[in-house]
Amino acid sequence: MRTAVVLGASVAGLLAARVLSDHAERVVIVEPDDMAAGGRTGTDAGGAAGGPRPGVPQGVQLHVLMAMGRTQLDRWLPGMSDELLGDGAVFCAGERVHQYTDGVRRPLIPGHDLISSTRPFLEQRVRRRVLGLPNVEVVRGRADGLRFTANTVGRRVCGASYLPTGDPATDDERSPAGPAGARRVCLAADLVVDATGRGTRIGAWLEKAGWQAPPVERIAIDLGYATALLRRGPELPDVAVTTALSTPAPAGSPQPDSAAVAEVEGGRWMMVLSGYAARRPGRDPREFVARCAAIPAGPVREIATGCELLGDVVCHRVPDSRRREFTRLSRFPAGLVVVGDAAASFNPVYGQGMTSAALHASCLSAYLRSGGRVDEPARDFFVRQRVVVDAAWQLSAVGDLAQPHVDGPYPAGFRAAQWYSARLGRACALDPEVYRRFLDVVNMRERPGLLSRPGTALRVARALLAANRG
Ligand SMILES: Cc1cc2nc3c(=O)[nH]c(=O)nc-3n(C[C@H](O)[C@H](O)[C@H](O)COP(=O)(O)OP(=O)(O)OC[C@H]3O[C@@H](n4cnc5c(N)ncnc54)[C@H](O)[C@@H]3O)c2cc1C
Repeated sequence: MRTAVVLGASVAGLLAARVLSDHAERVVIVEPDDMAAGGRTGTDAGGAAGGPRPGVPQGVQLHVLMAMGRTQLDRWLPGMSDELLGDGAVFCAGERVHQYTDGVRRPLIPGHDLISSTRPFLEQRVRRRVLGLPNVEVVRGRADGLRFTANTVGRRVCGASYLPTGDPATDDERSPAGPAGARRVCLAADLVVDATGRGTRIGAWLEKAGWQAPPVERIAIDLGYATALLRRGPELPDVAVTTALSTPAPAGSPQPDSAAVAEVEGGRWMMVLSGYAARRPGRDPREFVARCAAIPAGPVREIATGCELLGDVVCHRVPDSRRREFTRLSRFPAGLVVVGDAAASFNPVYGQGMTSAALHASCLSAYLRSGGRVDEPARDFFVRQRVVVDAAWQLSAVGDLAQPHVDGPYPAGFRAAQWYSARLGRACALDPEVYRRFLDVVNMRERPGLLSRPGTALRVARALLAANRG
Protein backbone atom coordinates (compact mmCIF):
# COMPACT_ATOMS: atom_id res chain seq x y z
CA MET A 1 0.00 0.00 0.00
CA ARG A 2 1.16 3.55 -0.51
CA THR A 3 0.04 5.43 2.59
CA ALA A 4 -1.23 4.36 6.00
CA VAL A 5 -2.47 6.96 8.47
CA VAL A 6 -2.43 6.21 12.19
CA LEU A 7 -4.47 8.44 14.52
CA GLY A 8 -2.77 8.68 17.92
CA ALA A 9 0.91 8.25 18.85
CA SER A 10 0.63 6.40 22.13
CA VAL A 11 1.59 2.75 22.62
CA ALA A 12 -1.13 1.30 20.37
CA GLY A 13 -0.60 3.83 17.58
CA LEU A 14 3.19 3.58 17.66
CA LEU A 15 3.20 -0.21 17.47
CA ALA A 16 0.58 -0.22 14.70
CA ALA A 17 2.78 2.27 12.82
CA ARG A 18 5.75 -0.04 13.30
CA VAL A 19 3.80 -2.95 11.79
CA LEU A 20 2.56 -0.80 8.92
CA SER A 21 6.09 0.36 8.12
CA ASP A 22 6.57 -3.17 6.69
CA HIS A 23 3.53 -2.84 4.42
CA ALA A 24 3.19 0.83 3.41
CA GLU A 25 5.54 3.10 1.52
CA ARG A 26 4.65 5.91 3.92
CA VAL A 27 3.14 5.88 7.43
CA VAL A 28 1.82 9.17 8.82
CA ILE A 29 0.88 9.42 12.49
CA VAL A 30 -1.47 12.22 13.57
CA GLU A 31 -1.05 13.25 17.21
CA PRO A 32 -2.23 16.43 18.97
CA ASP A 33 0.53 16.42 21.61
CA ASP A 34 3.99 17.81 21.02
CA MET A 35 6.09 14.74 20.26
CA ALA A 36 9.34 16.66 20.01
CA ALA A 37 9.07 18.07 23.52
CA GLY A 38 7.73 14.84 24.97
CA GLY A 39 4.96 16.61 26.81
CA ARG A 40 3.64 19.97 27.82
CA THR A 41 2.15 19.76 31.28
CA GLY A 42 1.77 17.63 34.37
CA THR A 43 3.84 16.55 37.32
CA ASP A 44 7.32 15.23 36.77
CA ALA A 45 6.77 11.50 36.73
CA GLY A 46 9.04 11.07 33.75
CA GLY A 47 11.80 13.52 34.55
CA ALA A 48 14.23 14.38 31.80
CA ALA A 49 13.13 11.28 29.94
CA GLY A 50 9.98 13.09 28.75
CA GLY A 51 7.14 14.12 30.98
CA PRO A 52 3.49 13.18 31.09
CA ARG A 53 1.35 14.66 28.35
CA PRO A 54 -2.29 15.72 28.11
CA GLY A 55 -3.27 13.11 25.52
CA VAL A 56 -2.40 10.26 27.90
CA PRO A 57 -3.81 11.43 31.26
CA GLN A 58 -3.38 7.95 32.75
CA GLY A 59 0.35 8.20 32.00
CA VAL A 60 1.13 9.53 35.50
CA GLN A 61 -0.27 6.35 37.04
CA LEU A 62 1.64 3.14 37.68
CA HIS A 63 2.27 1.17 34.46
CA VAL A 64 4.06 -2.17 34.50
CA LEU A 65 4.77 -4.16 31.36
CA MET A 66 3.73 -7.81 31.40
CA ALA A 67 6.00 -10.60 30.16
CA MET A 68 3.97 -10.97 26.95
CA GLY A 69 4.12 -7.21 26.41
CA ARG A 70 7.88 -7.43 26.62
CA THR A 71 7.96 -10.29 24.10
CA GLN A 72 5.79 -8.28 21.73
CA LEU A 73 7.81 -5.09 22.14
CA ASP A 74 11.00 -7.00 21.33
CA ARG A 75 9.31 -8.60 18.36
CA TRP A 76 8.47 -5.26 16.79
CA LEU A 77 11.41 -3.27 18.10
CA PRO A 78 14.27 -5.75 18.58
CA GLY A 79 16.34 -5.01 21.66
CA MET A 80 13.68 -2.64 23.05
CA SER A 81 13.46 -4.23 26.49
CA ASP A 82 17.27 -4.28 26.83
CA GLU A 83 17.28 -0.60 25.91
CA LEU A 84 14.63 0.16 28.54
CA LEU A 85 16.53 -1.79 31.18
CA GLY A 86 19.86 -0.27 30.13
CA ASP A 87 18.38 3.21 30.53
CA GLY A 88 17.14 2.49 34.05
CA ALA A 89 13.81 0.66 33.87
CA VAL A 90 13.58 -2.05 36.52
CA PHE A 91 13.62 -5.76 35.72
CA CYS A 92 11.20 -7.39 38.15
CA ALA A 93 12.01 -11.10 38.23
CA GLY A 94 9.02 -13.24 39.23
CA GLU A 95 10.73 -14.04 42.55
CA ARG A 96 10.69 -10.31 43.37
CA VAL A 97 7.01 -9.81 42.52
CA HIS A 98 5.05 -10.20 45.76
CA GLN A 99 1.31 -10.50 45.38
CA TYR A 100 -1.24 -10.48 48.18
CA THR A 101 -4.98 -11.02 48.08
CA ASP A 102 -6.92 -10.01 51.19
CA GLY A 103 -3.64 -9.99 53.08
CA VAL A 104 -2.66 -13.55 52.09
CA ARG A 105 0.62 -13.78 50.19
CA ARG A 106 0.66 -15.87 47.06
CA PRO A 107 3.61 -18.05 46.07
CA LEU A 108 6.55 -16.42 44.28
CA ILE A 109 6.62 -17.72 40.70
CA PRO A 110 9.90 -17.55 38.75
CA GLY A 111 9.56 -16.68 35.08
CA HIS A 112 6.69 -14.22 35.43
CA ASP A 113 8.94 -11.24 35.04
CA LEU A 114 7.76 -7.66 34.60
CA ILE A 115 9.38 -4.43 33.47
CA SER A 116 8.62 -1.43 35.59
CA SER A 117 9.20 2.23 34.76
CA THR A 118 7.19 5.40 34.66
CA ARG A 119 4.90 5.37 31.67
CA PRO A 120 6.42 8.44 29.89
CA PHE A 121 9.88 6.83 30.19
CA LEU A 122 8.71 3.73 28.32
CA GLU A 123 6.59 5.57 25.78
CA GLN A 124 9.33 8.03 24.91
CA ARG A 125 11.75 5.21 24.05
CA VAL A 126 9.21 3.33 21.97
CA ARG A 127 8.38 6.59 20.19
CA ARG A 128 12.05 7.32 19.46
CA ARG A 129 12.47 3.92 17.84
CA VAL A 130 9.29 4.09 15.76
CA LEU A 131 9.75 7.68 14.61
CA GLY A 132 13.32 6.75 13.68
CA LEU A 133 12.02 4.44 10.94
CA PRO A 134 12.67 5.97 7.52
CA ASN A 135 9.07 5.73 6.28
CA VAL A 136 7.28 6.83 9.47
CA GLU A 137 6.51 10.48 10.20
CA VAL A 138 4.33 12.33 12.67
CA VAL A 139 2.19 15.43 12.09
CA ARG A 140 0.79 17.47 14.93
CA GLY A 141 -2.98 17.67 14.85
CA ARG A 142 -6.26 16.38 16.24
CA ALA A 143 -8.12 14.03 13.91
CA ASP A 144 -11.72 15.15 13.46
CA GLY A 145 -13.12 12.72 10.95
CA LEU A 146 -12.67 10.08 8.29
CA ARG A 147 -12.76 10.63 4.52
CA PHE A 148 -14.84 8.26 2.44
CA THR A 149 -14.89 7.53 -1.26
CA ALA A 150 -16.75 5.23 -3.61
CA ASN A 151 -15.10 2.16 -5.05
CA THR A 152 -16.55 -0.57 -7.19
CA VAL A 153 -18.30 -2.36 -4.31
CA GLY A 154 -19.20 0.56 -2.08
CA ARG A 155 -17.79 3.42 -0.14
CA ARG A 156 -14.59 2.95 1.78
CA VAL A 157 -12.36 4.99 4.05
CA CYS A 158 -9.77 6.79 1.96
CA GLY A 159 -8.21 9.08 4.53
CA ALA A 160 -8.69 11.20 7.61
CA SER A 161 -8.86 14.89 8.38
CA TYR A 162 -7.26 16.76 11.24
CA LEU A 163 -6.99 20.20 12.74
CA PRO A 164 -3.37 21.20 13.31
CA THR A 165 -2.49 21.79 16.97
CA GLY A 166 0.40 23.56 18.62
CA ASP A 167 -0.51 27.04 17.41
CA PRO A 168 -1.75 29.03 20.43
CA ALA A 169 -3.88 31.18 18.13
CA THR A 170 -6.03 28.25 17.06
CA ASP A 171 -5.41 25.65 19.80
CA ASP A 172 -7.52 27.28 22.46
CA GLU A 173 -11.26 26.60 22.31
CA ARG A 174 -11.83 30.03 23.94
CA SER A 175 -9.68 32.06 21.54
CA PRO A 176 -11.55 34.20 19.00
CA ALA A 177 -10.24 32.04 16.19
CA GLY A 178 -11.06 28.86 18.16
CA PRO A 179 -10.25 25.43 16.76
CA ALA A 180 -12.45 26.39 13.82
CA GLY A 181 -9.79 28.95 12.96
CA ALA A 182 -7.34 26.15 12.24
CA ARG A 183 -7.12 25.04 8.66
CA ARG A 184 -8.44 21.47 8.31
CA VAL A 185 -5.95 19.14 6.63
CA CYS A 186 -7.00 16.02 4.73
CA LEU A 187 -4.65 13.07 4.46
CA ALA A 188 -5.28 10.46 1.78
CA ALA A 189 -4.67 6.88 2.93
CA ASP A 190 -5.12 3.29 1.82
CA LEU A 191 -5.61 2.33 5.46
CA VAL A 192 -6.56 4.42 8.51
CA VAL A 193 -5.84 3.07 11.99
CA ASP A 194 -7.76 4.58 14.89
CA ALA A 195 -5.52 4.50 17.97
CA THR A 196 -7.00 7.54 19.72
CA GLY A 197 -7.65 5.74 22.99
CA ARG A 198 -10.79 5.12 25.06
CA GLY A 199 -12.34 8.47 24.09
CA THR A 200 -12.31 7.67 20.37
CA ARG A 201 -14.98 9.35 18.22
CA ILE A 202 -15.03 6.43 15.78
CA GLY A 203 -18.71 5.65 16.36
CA ALA A 204 -19.77 9.24 15.61
CA TRP A 205 -17.48 9.44 12.57
CA LEU A 206 -18.94 6.23 11.12
CA GLU A 207 -22.54 7.28 11.79
CA LYS A 208 -21.97 10.68 10.22
CA ALA A 209 -21.03 8.92 7.00
CA GLY A 210 -24.05 6.60 7.11
CA TRP A 211 -22.36 3.55 8.65
CA GLN A 212 -23.33 1.82 11.89
CA ALA A 213 -21.47 2.72 15.07
CA PRO A 214 -20.10 -0.37 16.82
CA PRO A 215 -22.17 -1.48 19.83
CA VAL A 216 -20.36 -0.48 23.02
CA GLU A 217 -20.41 -2.77 26.06
CA ARG A 218 -19.78 -0.90 29.30
CA ILE A 219 -19.37 -1.93 32.91
CA ALA A 220 -19.67 1.17 35.09
CA ILE A 221 -16.84 0.46 37.56
CA ASP A 222 -16.24 4.02 38.86
CA LEU A 223 -12.65 3.18 39.82
CA GLY A 224 -10.29 5.75 41.31
CA TYR A 225 -6.48 5.62 41.30
CA ALA A 226 -4.16 7.81 43.36
CA THR A 227 -0.45 7.54 42.66
CA ALA A 228 2.67 8.97 44.25
CA LEU A 229 6.42 8.59 43.91
CA LEU A 230 8.51 7.81 46.99
CA ARG A 231 12.26 7.70 47.50
CA ARG A 232 13.60 4.14 47.41
CA GLY A 233 16.19 3.41 50.06
CA PRO A 234 17.85 0.15 51.12
CA GLU A 235 14.53 -1.26 52.33
CA LEU A 236 13.09 -4.46 50.87
CA PRO A 237 15.97 -5.52 48.58
CA ASP A 238 14.07 -8.68 47.58
CA VAL A 239 10.99 -6.79 46.43
CA ALA A 240 10.55 -5.07 43.06
CA VAL A 241 6.75 -5.11 42.87
CA THR A 242 4.02 -5.72 45.44
CA THR A 243 0.35 -5.88 44.63
CA ALA A 244 -2.28 -6.07 47.34
CA LEU A 245 -5.73 -6.78 45.96
CA SER A 246 -8.87 -7.11 47.99
CA THR A 247 -12.07 -8.92 47.19
CA PRO A 248 -15.23 -6.83 47.55
CA ALA A 249 -17.04 -6.70 50.87
CA PRO A 250 -20.81 -7.41 50.91
CA ALA A 251 -23.06 -4.55 49.81
CA GLY A 252 -23.52 -1.98 52.57
CA SER A 253 -20.14 -2.72 54.22
CA PRO A 254 -17.14 -0.41 53.77
CA GLN A 255 -15.24 -1.53 50.68
CA PRO A 256 -11.55 -2.37 51.21
CA ASP A 257 -8.76 -0.57 49.35
CA SER A 258 -6.26 -2.16 47.00
CA ALA A 259 -2.71 -0.97 46.41
CA ALA A 260 0.37 -1.70 44.36
CA VAL A 261 3.92 -0.49 44.54
CA ALA A 262 6.70 -0.93 42.00
CA GLU A 263 10.28 0.20 41.80
CA VAL A 264 10.82 2.61 38.88
CA GLU A 265 13.81 4.32 37.30
CA GLY A 266 15.71 6.88 39.33
CA GLY A 267 15.72 4.95 42.62
CA ARG A 268 12.02 5.51 43.31
CA TRP A 269 8.94 3.58 44.26
CA MET A 270 5.69 4.33 42.52
CA MET A 271 2.75 3.56 44.77
CA VAL A 272 -0.88 3.42 43.72
CA LEU A 273 -3.94 3.26 45.94
CA SER A 274 -7.23 2.30 44.34
CA GLY A 275 -10.83 2.27 45.46
CA TYR A 276 -14.28 2.21 43.92
CA ALA A 277 -17.19 4.67 43.99
CA ALA A 278 -17.41 6.36 47.41
CA ARG A 279 -13.95 4.94 48.24
CA ARG A 280 -12.14 6.61 45.33
CA PRO A 281 -8.95 8.03 46.86
CA GLY A 282 -8.18 11.76 46.83
CA ARG A 283 -5.04 13.89 46.54
CA ASP A 284 -4.45 14.50 50.24
CA PRO A 285 -0.98 13.04 50.96
CA ARG A 286 -1.78 12.29 54.60
CA GLU A 287 -4.89 10.34 53.67
CA PHE A 288 -2.91 8.58 50.92
CA VAL A 289 -0.19 7.45 53.31
CA ALA A 290 -2.67 6.45 56.01
CA ARG A 291 -4.77 4.34 53.65
CA CYS A 292 -1.70 2.67 52.09
CA ALA A 293 -0.30 1.95 55.55
CA ALA A 294 -3.55 0.19 56.48
CA ILE A 295 -3.29 -2.23 53.55
CA PRO A 296 -2.64 -5.78 54.82
CA ALA A 297 0.60 -6.36 52.90
CA GLY A 298 3.93 -5.90 54.67
CA PRO A 299 5.89 -4.22 51.84
CA VAL A 300 3.12 -1.71 51.06
CA ARG A 301 2.90 -0.75 54.72
CA GLU A 302 6.67 -0.49 55.11
CA ILE A 303 7.10 1.74 52.05
CA ALA A 304 4.10 3.93 52.90
CA THR A 305 5.30 4.58 56.43
CA GLY A 306 9.08 4.58 55.91
CA CYS A 307 9.77 6.28 52.56
CA GLU A 308 9.71 9.96 51.72
CA LEU A 309 6.95 11.17 49.37
CA LEU A 310 8.36 12.92 46.30
CA GLY A 311 5.90 15.41 44.81
CA ASP A 312 2.15 15.32 44.68
CA VAL A 313 -0.41 12.56 44.82
CA VAL A 314 -2.06 12.40 41.38
CA CYS A 315 -5.55 11.00 40.82
CA HIS A 316 -7.21 9.36 37.87
CA ARG A 317 -10.75 8.07 37.46
CA VAL A 318 -11.80 5.19 35.25
CA PRO A 319 -15.59 5.51 34.93
CA ASP A 320 -16.10 2.26 33.08
CA SER A 321 -14.61 -0.71 31.32
CA ARG A 322 -15.71 -0.45 27.68
CA ARG A 323 -15.32 -2.42 24.50
CA ARG A 324 -16.49 -1.73 20.99
CA GLU A 325 -17.83 -4.80 19.23
CA PHE A 326 -16.71 -4.48 15.63
CA THR A 327 -17.33 -8.16 14.90
CA ARG A 328 -21.06 -7.60 15.52
CA LEU A 329 -21.41 -5.05 12.71
CA SER A 330 -23.04 -6.31 9.54
CA ARG A 331 -21.57 -3.44 7.49
CA PHE A 332 -18.15 -1.91 7.95
CA PRO A 333 -16.10 0.17 5.53
CA ALA A 334 -12.87 -1.06 3.97
CA GLY A 335 -9.69 0.82 4.80
CA LEU A 336 -10.22 1.12 8.56
CA VAL A 337 -9.03 -0.71 11.67
CA VAL A 338 -9.19 0.23 15.36
CA VAL A 339 -6.54 -0.74 17.93
CA GLY A 340 -5.67 -0.34 21.60
CA ASP A 341 -7.97 1.32 24.10
CA ALA A 342 -10.14 2.62 21.25
CA ALA A 343 -11.20 -0.99 20.73
CA ALA A 344 -11.28 -2.06 24.38
CA SER A 345 -10.28 -0.36 27.60
CA PHE A 346 -10.77 -2.30 30.80
CA ASN A 347 -10.06 -2.20 34.50
CA PRO A 348 -6.28 -1.69 34.76
CA VAL A 349 -6.02 -3.90 37.85
CA TYR A 350 -4.10 -6.60 35.95
CA GLY A 351 -1.97 -4.16 33.92
CA GLN A 352 -2.84 -5.65 30.53
CA GLY A 353 -3.48 -2.49 28.45
CA MET A 354 -0.07 -2.01 26.81
CA THR A 355 0.32 -5.75 26.27
CA SER A 356 -3.11 -5.85 24.61
CA ALA A 357 -2.15 -2.91 22.39
CA ALA A 358 1.02 -4.75 21.34
CA LEU A 359 -1.00 -7.89 20.59
CA HIS A 360 -3.41 -5.83 18.47
CA ALA A 361 -0.39 -4.74 16.43
CA SER A 362 0.52 -8.39 15.97
CA CYS A 363 -3.07 -9.12 14.88
CA LEU A 364 -2.72 -6.37 12.27
CA SER A 365 0.52 -7.89 11.05
CA ALA A 366 -0.99 -11.39 10.87
CA TYR A 367 -3.98 -9.99 8.98
CA LEU A 368 -1.87 -8.18 6.39
CA ARG A 369 0.62 -11.04 6.01
CA SER A 370 -2.14 -13.57 5.49
CA GLY A 371 -3.46 -11.69 2.47
CA GLY A 372 -5.82 -9.25 4.21
CA ARG A 373 -6.67 -6.53 1.70
CA VAL A 374 -7.07 -2.87 2.48
CA ASP A 375 -9.83 -2.52 -0.11
CA GLU A 376 -12.06 -4.95 1.80
CA PRO A 377 -13.54 -4.61 5.31
CA ALA A 378 -10.94 -5.90 7.77
CA ARG A 379 -13.25 -8.51 9.31
CA ASP A 380 -10.49 -11.06 9.82
CA PHE A 381 -8.47 -8.48 11.69
CA PHE A 382 -11.34 -7.80 14.08
CA VAL A 383 -11.92 -11.54 14.57
CA ARG A 384 -8.25 -11.99 15.53
CA GLN A 385 -8.34 -8.93 17.77
CA ARG A 386 -11.45 -10.20 19.51
CA VAL A 387 -9.49 -13.16 20.91
CA VAL A 388 -7.13 -10.69 22.62
CA VAL A 389 -9.95 -8.44 23.81
CA ASP A 390 -11.95 -11.38 25.17
CA ALA A 391 -8.95 -12.65 27.13
CA ALA A 392 -8.41 -9.36 28.97
CA TRP A 393 -12.09 -8.55 29.30
CA GLN A 394 -13.11 -11.90 30.77
CA LEU A 395 -10.48 -11.67 33.46
CA SER A 396 -11.32 -8.15 34.60
CA ALA A 397 -15.10 -8.43 34.13
CA VAL A 398 -15.47 -11.20 36.74
CA GLY A 399 -13.93 -8.88 39.34
CA ASP A 400 -15.76 -5.79 38.08
CA LEU A 401 -19.16 -7.44 38.22
CA ALA A 402 -18.53 -8.74 41.75
CA GLN A 403 -18.37 -5.14 43.04
CA PRO A 404 -21.58 -4.34 44.93
CA HIS A 405 -21.94 -0.90 43.28
CA VAL A 406 -21.75 -2.39 39.76
CA ASP A 407 -25.06 -3.43 38.25
CA GLY A 408 -24.13 -5.46 35.20
CA PRO A 409 -24.61 -6.28 32.45
CA TYR A 410 -24.12 -9.83 33.70
CA PRO A 411 -23.23 -12.33 30.97
CA ALA A 412 -24.81 -15.78 30.85
CA GLY A 413 -23.09 -18.06 33.35
CA PHE A 414 -21.80 -15.18 35.44
CA ARG A 415 -22.84 -16.64 38.83
CA ALA A 416 -21.04 -19.92 38.07
CA ALA A 417 -17.96 -18.02 36.85
CA GLN A 418 -17.93 -15.93 40.01
CA TRP A 419 -18.34 -19.02 42.21
CA TYR A 420 -15.41 -20.73 40.50
CA SER A 421 -13.30 -17.58 40.44
CA ALA A 422 -13.55 -17.21 44.24
CA ARG A 423 -12.33 -20.80 44.69
CA LEU A 424 -9.60 -20.39 42.10
CA GLY A 425 -8.43 -17.28 43.97
CA ARG A 426 -8.16 -19.25 47.23
CA ALA A 427 -6.34 -22.11 45.49
CA CYS A 428 -3.79 -19.65 44.03
CA ALA A 429 -2.46 -19.09 47.54
CA LEU A 430 -2.28 -22.84 48.21
CA ASP A 431 -0.96 -24.47 45.04
CA PRO A 432 1.90 -22.76 43.16
CA GLU A 433 0.97 -24.62 39.96
CA VAL A 434 -2.58 -23.20 40.02
CA TYR A 435 -1.12 -19.77 40.62
CA ARG A 436 1.40 -20.20 37.81
CA ARG A 437 -1.47 -20.97 35.43
CA PHE A 438 -3.39 -17.94 36.69
CA LEU A 439 -0.33 -15.73 36.05
CA ASP A 440 0.06 -17.25 32.57
CA VAL A 441 -3.43 -15.93 31.86
CA VAL A 442 -2.83 -12.54 33.50
CA ASN A 443 0.38 -12.21 31.49
CA MET A 444 -1.60 -13.05 28.34
CA ARG A 445 0.59 -16.05 27.57
CA GLU A 446 -2.43 -18.35 27.85
CA ARG A 447 -6.13 -17.89 27.24
CA PRO A 448 -8.54 -17.74 30.21
CA GLY A 449 -9.93 -21.15 29.17
CA LEU A 450 -6.83 -22.71 30.77
CA LEU A 451 -8.26 -21.87 34.19
CA SER A 452 -11.49 -23.79 33.69
CA ARG A 453 -9.96 -26.86 32.05
CA PRO A 454 -10.60 -30.09 34.00
CA GLY A 455 -6.91 -30.39 34.94
CA THR A 456 -6.91 -26.96 36.60
CA ALA A 457 -10.35 -27.40 38.18
CA LEU A 458 -9.16 -30.69 39.71
CA ARG A 459 -6.08 -29.03 41.20
CA VAL A 460 -8.28 -26.25 42.61
CA ALA A 461 -10.60 -28.81 44.23
CA ARG A 462 -7.67 -30.80 45.65
CA ALA A 463 -5.98 -27.70 47.06
CA LEU A 464 -9.17 -26.56 48.80
CA LEU A 465 -9.94 -30.05 50.15
CA ALA A 466 -6.42 -30.39 51.56
CA ALA A 467 -6.70 -26.96 53.18
CA ASN A 468 -10.09 -27.84 54.72
CA ARG A 469 -8.70 -31.10 56.11
CA GLY A 470 -5.60 -29.37 57.46
C1 LIG B 1 -5.02 4.12 35.79
C2 LIG B 1 -4.48 3.25 34.69
C3 LIG B 1 -3.41 2.40 34.93
C4 LIG B 1 -2.92 1.59 33.91
N1 LIG B 1 -1.91 0.73 34.19
C5 LIG B 1 -1.43 -0.07 33.21
C6 LIG B 1 -0.35 -0.97 33.47
O1 LIG B 1 0.16 -1.10 34.59
N2 LIG B 1 0.10 -1.73 32.43
C7 LIG B 1 -0.44 -1.64 31.18
O2 LIG B 1 0.01 -2.35 30.27
N3 LIG B 1 -1.46 -0.80 30.92
C8 LIG B 1 -1.97 -0.02 31.89
N4 LIG B 1 -2.99 0.85 31.60
C9 LIG B 1 -3.57 0.88 30.24
C10 LIG B 1 -2.73 1.74 29.29
O3 LIG B 1 -2.64 3.07 29.76
C11 LIG B 1 -3.33 1.74 27.87
O4 LIG B 1 -3.94 0.52 27.59
C12 LIG B 1 -2.24 2.00 26.84
O5 LIG B 1 -1.79 3.32 26.99
C13 LIG B 1 -2.65 1.82 25.38
O6 LIG B 1 -3.53 2.81 25.06
P1 LIG B 1 -3.69 3.48 23.62
O7 LIG B 1 -2.40 3.70 22.96
O8 LIG B 1 -4.72 2.70 22.92
O9 LIG B 1 -4.37 4.87 24.05
P2 LIG B 1 -3.79 6.04 24.91
O10 LIG B 1 -2.55 5.65 25.61
O11 LIG B 1 -4.91 6.56 25.73
O12 LIG B 1 -3.38 7.13 23.82
C14 LIG B 1 -4.28 7.71 22.92
C15 LIG B 1 -3.47 8.62 21.99
O13 LIG B 1 -4.32 9.18 21.00
C16 LIG B 1 -4.12 10.59 20.95
N5 LIG B 1 -5.38 11.18 20.49
C17 LIG B 1 -6.53 11.37 21.19
N6 LIG B 1 -7.47 11.94 20.40
C18 LIG B 1 -6.90 12.09 19.18
C19 LIG B 1 -7.36 12.61 17.94
N7 LIG B 1 -8.60 13.09 17.79
N8 LIG B 1 -6.51 12.62 16.88
C20 LIG B 1 -5.25 12.12 17.00
N9 LIG B 1 -4.76 11.62 18.15
C21 LIG B 1 -5.57 11.61 19.22
C22 LIG B 1 -3.73 10.97 22.36
O14 LIG B 1 -3.07 12.21 22.42
C23 LIG B 1 -2.82 9.79 22.72
O15 LIG B 1 -1.52 9.98 22.25
C24 LIG B 1 -3.51 1.65 32.62
C25 LIG B 1 -4.58 2.51 32.38
C26 LIG B 1 -5.07 3.29 33.40
C27 LIG B 1 -6.26 4.18 33.11
